[in-house]
Amino acid sequence: MENYDVVVIGAGSAGYVAAIRCAQLGFKTACVDQWIGKQGKPTLGGTCLNVGCIPSKALLESSDHYQNLLASTQAHGIRVEKVEIDIPAMIQRKDEIVKGLTSGIEGLFKKHGVTWLQGRGTMRQPMQVVVTDNDGTETTVKAAHIILATGSLPREVPNVPMDGEVIVDSSAALDFEEAPKRLGIIGAGVIGVELGSVWGRLGSNVVLIEAMDRFLAFVDEKIAQEAQKTFTEQGLDIRLGSRVLSAERKGDTAVVRYEDSQGNAQEMTFDKLIVAVGRTPNLKGLGTAEMGVQADERGYIQVDAFCRTSIPQIFAIGDVVRGPMLAHKGSEEGIMVAERLAGQKTTLNYNNIPWVIYTQPEIAWVGKTERELKAEAREYNVGWFPLTANGRARAMHATAGSVKILADKQTDALLGVHIFAPTASEMIAEAVVAMEFGGSAEDLARIVHAHPTLSEAVHEAALAVSGRQLHL
Ligand code: FAD
Ligand code: NAD
Repeated sequence: MENYDVVVIGAGSAGYVAAIRCAQLGFKTACVDQWIGKQGKPTLGGTCLNVGCIPSKALLESSDHYQNLLASTQAHGIRVEKVEIDIPAMIQRKDEIVKGLTSGIEGLFKKHGVTWLQGRGTMRQPMQVVVTDNDGTETTVKAAHIILATGSLPREVPNVPMDGEVIVDSSAALDFEEAPKRLGIIGAGVIGVELGSVWGRLGSNVVLIEAMDRFLAFVDEKIAQEAQKTFTEQGLDIRLGSRVLSAERKGDTAVVRYEDSQGNAQEMTFDKLIVAVGRTPNLKGLGTAEMGVQADERGYIQVDAFCRTSIPQIFAIGDVVRGPMLAHKGSEEGIMVAERLAGQKTTLNYNNIPWVIYTQPEIAWVGKTERELKAEAREYNVGWFPLTANGRARAMHATAGSVKILADKQTDALLGVHIFAPTASEMIAEAVVAMEFGGSAEDLARIVHAHPTLSEAVHEAALAVSGRQLHL
């Protein structure tokens, strides 16, 4: 039986990064994964690379180009005679990006000396992992340490049976062969608005059915309100406070029944229905109970701030543990666990993990929302600056959006930075660095920002915290 210092179960953003870092630090490392890619072959990269971050962003980029040609070029004085969309080509481009990146991880594993064990991993006493491949062949390896990184699976809605064709999860929604004329989405969360934007730009009439009566309840309220207005103008039909009762396939369509915010029964028919109501941690067949690894009341593997489970030699990272279900959060947890196994004192600041929603404009934030600060009875100042007053945004013909900064009333320390702007995903990095270094709004206000850039809106919002914004 082969002996490893570390066996990682799961090769998504959390697991493959953990495995590479372990190998870099000199541990004999194996990474077990059961994913079968679109080409029918074992593939690394997990949800993020195969059916998550990367393919969804590829389609968001393509559909954004198409939308710009349809809607924005005229304002720039460019006349385009005929714009056509080739969705199969768009999907093929997306698949090639996925293939390139997932095989890239295979190359990285070879380079760093990580052994890839293909199949389902199940823990067994004493510190063994049984790997069952597609043919049912079992191989057992021994591990001094195990890192669990088995990710998450889409949540289902009671009385809404998915069939993979008409009523689908987010994965199948990345592979539609044409833009469905009528697209329903249950859940106006991150996936709902991103995939709604993709297919809406490509021609679908998109209806989002959302249970909560607030749009993007975890986003700062002012930014969420701006975003709701902008996305509605873009054509997304967002129905808040709507409780789905059931959905069923009827021929080639899906019929959804729901109770609207007034309590009235509604029925709608769609050509495709995407279910995007969150994801649940995946502990299926992992052997956690046999090993004595405890789960919390919400079904996540219970871990401390260093990702240690209830068993000292077993760690868990990524979507399968508490915290935001974000690729970069899982990767950093993987690095932390590897480095701590090597005796380093690595920590992860969970307060400063940036979030991005890749709509157009993008929504990005780090730190607390105003609602959270109020709940903590914390005193704060607010600085806000709209893109309408930013020269670069005007030059881009992209003035929807704003930057909002929350700073401690006494110390001026940055508590939260919220951006609704094109490239907010890039702009937020400045705020993350400032907050990680314990920066204040005054620090951002004193830093020279290049002109003309969208980042000047961050500068102006920082100035606005003390009421001295210059261009508003
Ligand atoms: P996963 O990526 O889910 O990987 C888990 C791996 O474990 C899989 O490869 C699976 O095959 C394997 N596995 C599970 N059980 C076993 C077992 N018993 N044996 C062997 N292997 C097993 N996050 C962002 O930060 N930015 C984004 O833009 C973004 N976009 C997203 C878009 C979509 C449509 C979706 C669905 C998610 C998106 N996410 C995004 C979330 C991101 O994909 C996840 O947070 C991330 O993939 C979690 O990484 P992970 O390694 O914990 O799990
Ligand atoms: P989500 O939690 O963002 O949104 C789910 C939405 O569904 C919520 O607004 C919720 O109120 C609603 N909902 C729940 N049950 C419902 C019901 N029965 N009827 C109607 N609405 C209902 O989850 P998601 O959009 O499925 O995404 C899952 C996770 O994947 C995200 O939380 C995020 O961590 C990750 N993700 C991240 C990105 C990114 O970073 N850009 C992109 C996609 C996904």
